[in-house]
Amino acid sequence: MERVYTAQDIMIVGHLEAVLERHRIGCVVKNRFLVGGAGELPPTDVWPEIWVREDDAPRAREVIAGVLAEGEASPPDWTCPRCGEAVEGQFAECWNCQTPAPGEG
Ligand SMILES: [Zn+2]
Repeated sequence: MERVYTAQDIMIVGHLEAVLERHRIGCVVKNRFLVGGAGELPPTDVWPEIWVREDDAPRAREVIAGVLAEGEASPPDWTCPRCGEAVEGQFAECWNCQTPAPGEG
């Protein structure tokens, strides 16, 4: 196994994990649940980490670099269930009819 990414933000790590899985790259997230329970360890020792098989590491790094470059860490766009408008992922409600994003709350 080889570590390909680490970040303090579990949201980003979780997003990258999902993207890697979409690319059929099996990965393991370490320290997923340790943030906040660091105790006396240096904080960077308990950041979430993404590990992949060594064979997959070059491709995984490529995918991760692409995701970070494109800003795909923001939520995906969604379609308003009420009026059918396409809404950018960072908006929590439809710009057209103020319907909350599905799955929120
Ligand atoms: Zn709408």
